[in-house]
Amino acid sequence: MSARVLVVDDVLPNVRLLEAKLGSEYFDVVTAMDGPSALARMAEQAPDIVLLDVMMPGMDGFEVCRRIRKDPKTAHIPVVMVTALSDAEDRVRGLEAGADDFLTKPVNDLALFARVRSLVRLKMMMDELRLREQTTGDLGVLADPAALDVDSSAARVIVLEDSAIESRKMCDALTNAGNVVIPVTTTAEANAAATSGPPDLFIVSLGLRNEDGLRFCSHLRSNEATRHLPILLVISDSDIARLAKGLDIGVNDYIARPYDRNELLARVRTQVRRRRFQDRLRHNYQRGLELALTDSLTGIYNRRYMATHLPSVMKQAADAAKPLALFMIDIDHFKRVNDTYGHPMGDEVLRAVARRIADAVRQIDTVARMGGEEFLVVMPDARADIAVRIAERLRQAVADDSVADPRAPGGKIAVTISIGVALANASDTGDTLIQRADQALYRAKQGGRNRVECEEQAAPVAVAAGR
Ligand code: GH3
Ligand code: MG
Ligand code: MG
Repeated sequence: MSARVLVVDDVLPNVRLLEAKLGSEYFDVVTAMDGPSALARMAEQAPDIVLLDVMMPGMDGFEVCRRIRKDPKTAHIPVVMVTALSDAEDRVRGLEAGADDFLTKPVNDLALFARVRSLVRLKMMMDELRLREQTTGDLGVLADPAALDVDSSAARVIVLEDSAIESRKMCDALTNAGNVVIPVTTTAEANAAATSGPPDLFIVSLGLRNEDGLRFCSHLRSNEATRHLPILLVISDSDIARLAKGLDIGVNDYIARPYDRNELLARVRTQVRRRRFQDRLRHNYQRGLELALTDSLTGIYNRRYMATHLPSVMKQAADAAKPLALFMIDIDHFKRVNDTYGHPMGDEVLRAVARRIADAVRQIDTVARMGGEEFLVVMPDARADIAVRIAERLRQAVADDSVADPRAPGGKIAVTISIGVALANASDTGDTLIQRADQALYRAKQGGRNRVECEEQAAPVAVAAGR
């Protein structure tokens, strides 16, 4: 994995040392020797991770970190504080400033590489989500700096620890801070708890007597439902080698026993905040997709959706040697509705007709608004005779319905539709199939509107093929 690392330290030998270590692992290293130039490098070089010295003249590491977090352009970049201080109070201060972790000088190589790799991996996942958010054109979360302030309160935390004393100590600390804690002593119980409701965080002890906590972490990572949930390991000094393995598996953070209560809470908050932020990104992406593929006026699918959906259902039908019918639907004299009752009432009629069509077809059929007052229905597994019967029923349903308006005769606007039906054959593309449905629709219009027309040869072909 290659990544760009920004190393910030006011002492040149420290910079050179980290540069050499990271360079030997093929990381691309960028350096800065004070806070303001670190922030400038962030803007120019877009690093994947920052290793930040705490004690620097002028702007110290805490302040640099706070500024990185405050800027929406850099807020997602992981920051590791590198410090000579081993005081828990300073670690808490750093975590509160938004740091993801601490490394203590002199830096242990194993811890350094494992940490950098796992944080870079996390960032790449975030980048992917950010990219998707941009693709769907919805910058709702990322463009709004306030959205970066994610609430981390009342987190649901599953604590896997089989020592009663340790478990009690941890659960008390978490509960007193307002979290909802589920203590479990076996991986089976942990799985059951996760299934009954996904937690915001797993805390897993590496010192389980009868089971391997790392195996459980690996299980969480390989399972679709828990892949994205954060894991915090609880280790003791003798576990360092296994910790490196844990970070490689994808554990998000760790804390060493004996730990400081405030440091624990700060780490928990960091993980919970990040998970909730990612959730929000993911949710936004889904929403963006929906928006991109549905018609905003009627809420049904749009032309863009149909452009990918139609070829795929056509292929499915062809592979299964099943028939496939397509309706092209157009509202009759719709312009008159707009001209007589105004555009907003025209919109109301469009919504009503869309609803009618969607209600009248089966679950497996797809309805889309292709633009203006044109709709398309794709109907898998419907022979020509059946398709025509359904189309006729649809036409009748719309004609029987009406949209209320006191200005209209009898208080109701009468609406009718014309429908052209075509059946897919082996040589069709989506376009040729739509074209034939369009031609049938044209004949329905010519024939006086409020009618269904089917392409001529469709029925014999479908029947002859025995479909
Ligand atoms: P025909 O029976 O031949 O289909 O006649 P028509 O009046 O329905 O067809 P035409 O294509 O002449 O007019 C369609 C009208 O639909 C014109 C356009 O202003 C209107 N229209 C298109 N999109 C919308 C929309 O989103 N809202 C509203 N209110 N009107 C729309
Ligand atoms: Mg029309
Ligand atoms: Mg039209």
